Amino acid sequence: MKDSLRPESLMMTHGYKPELSEGAIKPPIFQTSTFAFKTAEEGKAYFELAYGLRQKDQNEDLGLIYSRINNPNLEILEDRLCLWDNADQCAVFESGMSAISTVLLEFVKPGDLLLYSMPVYGGTDHFINHFLKDIGVHAIGFLPSHSKEEIIEMVESSGHGGRLGMIYAETPANPTNDLIDIQMCREVAAHFEKTDKRIYVAIDNTYMGPLWSSPLENGADLVLYSATKYIGGHSDLIAGAVLGNTEIMQRVKVLRTFLGNMPSPNTCWLLLRSLETLKVRMEQQALNAQHVAKYLNNHSLIDKVYYLGNIDQSSSNYELYKRQYSSPGAMIAFEIKGGEKEAFCFLNNLDLIKLAVSLGSTESLVQHPASMTHIGLCPNLKKQIGITDSLVRLSIGVEHYADLINDIDKALIAVQIDLEINEEDLVVG
Ligand SMILES: *Cc1c(COP(=O)(O)O)cnc(C)c1O
Repeated sequence: MKDSLRPESLMMTHGYKPELSEGAIKPPIFQTSTFAFKTAEEGKAYFELAYGLRQKDQNEDLGLIYSRINNPNLEILEDRLCLWDNADQCAVFESGMSAISTVLLEFVKPGDLLLYSMPVYGGTDHFINHFLKDIGVHAIGFLPSHSKEEIIEMVESSGHGGRLGMIYAETPANPTNDLIDIQMCREVAAHFEKTDKRIYVAIDNTYMGPLWSSPLENGADLVLYSATKYIGGHSDLIAGAVLGNTEIMQRVKVLRTFLGNMPSPNTCWLLLRSLETLKVRMEQQALNAQHVAKYLNNHSLIDKVYYLGNIDQSSSNYELYKRQYSSPGAMIAFEIKGGEKEAFCFLNNLDLIKLAVSLGSTESLVQHPASMTHIGLCPNLKKQIGITDSLVRLSIGVEHYADLINDIDKALIAVQIDLEINEEDLVVG
């Protein structure tokens, strides 16, 4: 019966037994650091599993030990997150960055090569090109425009192909919605795999969120999320998640135990509440984004709109889009006529849409990648991936779309007036 139910139908109940908590319809917050064992033998058996010293027996569950290792709120959350991505196992983290850094530390060792897509999230980029570099991990970035053959050639000519440890990609890419072909990443991995060692493909799926894509079914071994974004969805917490098969996730969970970067029971509880509305929120956000994109597509002050719903059906990207995603999502970027001055004028004249980084939340957010989230990128890369001074990024929330469009319209009128004043100045001057 369970198996036939869809994830949204299971988000209120899956993995929780009210009879274990006085019949409480919702899981209480298990605000406890440690758990009493029934017997010493039981404690020993739990520890053996937690430290990865033996495989689980059939039907054996890891018992509750200590809240750095496991906690009911953590476990229920992980069970429910597995449903969206159809994954064997999930590990949640205290932030998206701790999920990402833990995966990279576990699967890429000094002397190894990490192949990654550009641009990746700023924090990820810093971790790869500073922390990992300092401990001797080589890294090569590839662009969405690079072909499989070009990427293989880059790896081979680096001289580190024999030590390719992981392929890490972010798709759709932030902020321009460029797509990376996950199947292609798997083929590149297969090209360098030796019979005894699989090269894992890890996909940061934060930008699309868990509803409309399944990287694991497209050839990824691991899928990562900043749960701060769509999964949390209310801009009131920081968290992360990693999903994959049992064997891989065992390694991720053991390292998490020793880094101690799991979220608190309270954060897990907030995420459980968020998951109940994940689908309705994301569907409304995507619907609103469709309306906003349509408005932007037809505005004379907007030069270019980066929105997955705009991909031309005759372009080769369309096939890739259809293969990996079933919705254009709720992230839009666009170029406003002019440069930073006009972009800032637009940002400063919005009221309903808040000027803040982050994305995927119930409230719409706007920001300026070139001077905010992507300020650290080298100018050449910025240019290659289309992060210009006139680029603005929108994360669409659950407000009424007509109010969002009115807000944008009002801010664009302010930009128009500004441009006209400038032109007058030029004429007078
Ligand atoms: C926000 C974000 C992260 C980092 O997540 P935190 O929860 O802020 O640590 C990683 N990847 C992407 C794509 C993000 O948007």
